[in-house]
Amino acid sequence: MSSENPDKLGHYCGVVGLHSTQDVNIPELLFYPLYSLQHRGQESAGISYKKTDRIVTYKDLGLVSQVLSHYLKETHPSRIGIAHARYSTHGGNLIQNVQPLHINCNKGEIALAHNGNISNIEVIRDRLVAEGAIFQSTSDTELVLHLISRSRKIEFLDALVETFQQLQGAFSMVMVHDNKLIGIRDPKGFRPLYLGWKDGLHVMVSETCALDILGITEYREVAPGEIVIINDSGVESHRFSAETKKAHCIFEFIYFARPDSQIFGKTVYTMRKKIGRALAQIDTVKADVVISVPDSGNTAALGYAEASGIPFELGLTRNHFAGRSFTLPSQAQREFAVKMKLNPIREVIQGKSIILVDDSLVRGTTSRYIVKLLRDAGAREIHLRLSSPEIKYPCFYGIDVPTRKELISNTHDPVELAKFVGADSVLFLPVDKLKECAGEADDYCYACFNGAYPEPLGPDAQKQVKL
Ligand code: SF4
Repeated sequence: MSSENPDKLGHYCGVVGLHSTQDVNIPELLFYPLYSLQHRGQESAGISYKKTDRIVTYKDLGLVSQVLSHYLKETHPSRIGIAHARYSTHGGNLIQNVQPLHINCNKGEIALAHNGNISNIEVIRDRLVAEGAIFQSTSDTELVLHLISRSRKIEFLDALVETFQQLQGAFSMVMVHDNKLIGIRDPKGFRPLYLGWKDGLHVMVSETCALDILGITEYREVAPGEIVIINDSGVESHRFSAETKKAHCIFEFIYFARPDSQIFGKTVYTMRKKIGRALAQIDTVKADVVISVPDSGNTAALGYAEASGIPFELGLTRNHFAGRSFTLPSQAQREFAVKMKLNPIREVIQGKSIILVDDSLVRGTTSRYIVKLLRDAGAREIHLRLSSPEIKYPCFYGIDVPTRKELISNTHDPVELAKFVGADSVLFLPVDKLKECAGEADDYCYACFNGAYPEPLGPDAQKQVKL
């Protein structure tokens, strides 16, 4: 997670939406699935739920448990609510950007939670500001509420369609309006969004692990370009786009999503193992043992071990209580932070030639510390294997990627990188092999690896793409 580790891409957000045909304790029912999505954002958490004829919103900076656990002791009968866990990809970690955003406007009261990043925000924001709009936050989500409010359409659904047809980029959203829970997914389906149901309850979530916790086993994807409206009469489905080209974020499989989730119709665990196997199939190094950088490298390392026949061992133990980021000024302190989090099991490491599997390399600094840890524990050889291709380009679809100059793969080839991190060799999974693993290869976005963006870039984005 980026906020924990500058050597990982930053997560974005997790969303939950819930509708019940009977009064239930909505804040409590929102808490559990949101807790399951904590990995998607650790900077802030919040909920909005319908209380008689108004919407109540409670949100703050902090983890889901810190912000919302008091709801486990309280009862708030309600039928509709949404929840959000946030990592600030756009707009920074400011209290006014914490979601759900909640407004009163000419269309009534609306609460909105968003996972993704609207890529044409500059153009629309400039237009709205020129027309006199005042923004309270720097988040792109507020823009959506402005567009809905300013729509001259009389029907709320028509205002939504008009709004979402103007937007580009990634948006998986949940919304409370009137007595309705609404889910929206962008036409290319960059981010996942699922709809599950059970006993009069409908739940929309970013990943299916958040349905598991509620014992929901029946679900479907909210389709790209779909608006789902749920009220006491049932579920309505509407389309706001005729787009047929999909661009699911392949990085969800490599790193972001939990291995026990389904996303884009596939199980993350199975895909991650497949990716690990593909990595082993192109490797020529014969080592004694495969170990992973926990937790994100675990599943790919299992796949690697399976395909290579080299035994998998737990060579690094992760301290699960070493968590949130703190900016450390010196190299020695940063190295110590890695030691606080990961500790090698000397017996597994000593005198061995090691395949060390991690999911990706961003700046290379953490890998350097990990390699040093393993060398200090007596490793004979260390071969760093990455289950993603080299990250070379920024993302405009909800992932926090450092500048091109900061991405180490733009300045170091694998041989130079091995030298930089202190490994004997470094190997990335090539994009074409990743595409083979994906199956329907054209349904995915690979832009941070190859610069082939699925949508035309605006002027600001074009500047960022230049090295
Ligand atoms: Fe995902 Fe990379 Fe595409 Fe962003 S650019 S959506 S991180 S694959």
